[in-house]
Amino acid sequence: MIASKGFAAQQPKSHIEPFNFERRDPLPSDIVIAIEYCGICHSDLHQVNNDWFPGIFPMVPGHEIVGRVTHVGSAVKKFKAGDLAAVGCMVDSCRTCATCKAGLEQYCEVGTILTYNALDKKGQPTYGGYANNIVVDEAFGLTIPANLDLAATAPLLCAGITTYSPLQHWKVGKHSKVGIVGLGGLGHMGLKFAHALGAHVVLFTTSAKKKDDALRLGADEVVLSNDANAMQKHAASFDMLLDTVSADHDLNALTALLKLDSTLVLVGAPDRPASVSAFPLLMKRRSIAGSGIGGIRETQEMLEFCGKHNIVSDIELMKTNQINEAYKRLLANDVKYRFVLDIARPA
Ligand code: NAP
Ligand code: ZN
Ligand code: ZN
Repeated sequence: MIASKGFAAQQPKSHIEPFNFERRDPLPSDIVIAIEYCGICHSDLHQVNNDWFPGIFPMVPGHEIVGRVTHVGSAVKKFKAGDLAAVGCMVDSCRTCATCKAGLEQYCEVGTILTYNALDKKGQPTYGGYANNIVVDEAFGLTIPANLDLAATAPLLCAGITTYSPLQHWKVGKHSKVGIVGLGGLGHMGLKFAHALGAHVVLFTTSAKKKDDALRLGADEVVLSNDANAMQKHAASFDMLLDTVSADHDLNALTALLKLDSTLVLVGAPDRPASVSAFPLLMKRRSIAGSGIGGIRETQEMLEFCGKHNIVSDIELMKTNQINEAYKRLLANDVKYRFVLDIARPA
């Protein structure tokens, strides 16, 4: 077994504290990564707090992982020792179902194995990236373009792919008018990608103070979502809305902003179910859909896209003794726009 030094919540809602544990001995197709940076996603907070379902504790969160390969198994082809490597939200899937074969491992028909708060194929708990190393099958390891700042690349592994994938799936491009709802970790990546794809981008926010940042990050317009008049001006005009909000909010007001046959895509995952009125949907044959992260192939494509367009996350680098402070600030909507843990240089 490989010794790991990490940070875990021992039980639901508890503080994140140092935690020593073991990873599996690397298999022939595994790589071992010395983790340098790991992003803090709002999903980490949801899961530590058991917002969605009873979690597996102790829980080592973290699924925005970048570092350097320290070991490659005898069957590994994609990596060699010393390479940069990344891991996102998944570490395995069945790999044989039609969905996996289509490169959509996040929707595996048998069950995706998430990077933490899950059981691996042997029934052992998976532990995430708030730790000094990770063992992963090379099929779930990603390569990182050399021109990108490494710390600011970490959030691409979840916030990046989660916004890139639906923008691709719903074919956002030069002639699209797209709305990004919520300016946090996911939202700011949504702005950057939608802008890079050439769309006309409108940010919907509850935070007036984020306006200048939104314009800098790629928004063409900013609308306060609690200003009914400002919302009305955009009625029935959007090709797609990407909703990244982490808490309960009004979906009906957003749906009314969509054109005929257009879609409100939920990527934010509030703990409580939303109330949806049939009327804004049936009046213009609109849809509400959801989207989960992205497959491995598309995550690699997204990283290449970021390399080409020089896109990374706007981050606040935190020491590992600041995790609990970061959680508090994330919950208070006080982050610009992603916390990243400096794992390799601890406090
Ligand atoms: P985040 O950085 O905390 O951003 C969430 C944003 O939502 C905030 O910046 C805020 O934007 C807005 N917001 C927060 N509370 C609100 C409220 N009560 N009413 C309206 N707006 C509110 O979180 P994140 O890391 O981007 O994650 C966002 C959500 O996506 C989380 O629920 C997370 O679990 C989920 N997620 C889903 C996937 C997936 O695969 N689908 C992947 C990763 C994360 P404004 O200040 O601009 O209003
Ligand atoms: Zn995430
Ligand atoms: Zn599968």
